[in-house]
Amino acid sequence: MDERPMDVRLAEMRDDPAIDLVLDGSAVGGMLGAIFGSDVTGMPGECASCHTVSLMGTMRVYLRGPGTVIRCPACSQVVLRIAETPRGSMIDLRGIAFVRIEHPS
Ligand SMILES: [Zn+2]
Repeated sequence: MDERPMDVRLAEMRDDPAIDLVLDGSAVGGMLGAIFGSDVTGMPGECASCHTVSLMGTMRVYLRGPGTVIRCPACSQVVLRIAETPRGSMIDLRGIAFVRIEHPS
C-alpha cells in the first residue's frame, strides 16, 4: 500500500509519460474509418484474446512509439496495430476477432 499523500501520488501520475499516451478509440476514429470504410467508433469489436466485446471507440489507444497501438480495455492485449511506412500503411489485425459494422437503422 502506498502511504504517501494522495496529492503526491497524483502529481507523479501526471508526470508519467505513459499516462498521457492513453486515449480512447475515438481519438483515432478517422484512421479506423479509413481502414474499415465506415465510422466504427460506435461499432462492437471482439478481442481475440479474452473475447470481450467492446465498442471500438472505447478501446485504449497508444499513439507514441513506432505506430498506433489499440488495446482491449478489458485485458490490455493488442487488438490492432497501425504503422505508416514509405510503401504504405501496415495494419495488423491479429488481435481482433471481429468488428461488426452495423447498418444504419
Ligand atoms: Zn481482451
